[in-house]
Amino acid sequence: MGLWRCCNENCSTDPAGRLIFDFEADEPVCPKCGCDHRKPLEANVIVKLEAIHFDPPSHVKGRGLGYPACRPEKSVLGSHASGVHDAVTCRGCRESEVFKSSYAASRPWDATDHEVEIDFQKMIVAPKKG
Ligand SMILES: [Zn+2]
Ligand SMILES: [Zn+2]
Repeated sequence: MGLWRCCNENCSTDPAGRLIFDFEADEPVCPKCGCDHRKPLEANVIVKLEAIHFDPPSHVKGRGLGYPACRPEKSVLGSHASGVHDAVTCRGCRESEVFKSSYAASRPWDATDHEVEIDFQKMIVAPKKG
């Protein structure tokens, strides 16, 4: 079983619009568009990913707890791990509660819808001085 990323823009599921659709499969073939990493012209569309685990944040800014969110009994020392949400590719880590709550805390604007209303009657436009 490998971890793969399809960079075909039609397959992207990333809310930020990056060309990202990650999938796990035995064969390096995108289940959406059918691009195949083994074909020379599609080798760069389907990219092999390494599993990067989530090192949950500790009370010290910039330092993690030192274990992957998917396997708290293991040390992240010597393994692929990051505290940067976007860098994490391990599905187990991404689906963990600690990842979800930490991710949500980093994006407070996701929790609320905003309506912006501009009242031109209350705007003050003054000439620049000097
Ligand atoms: Zn695809
Ligand atoms: Zn993990």
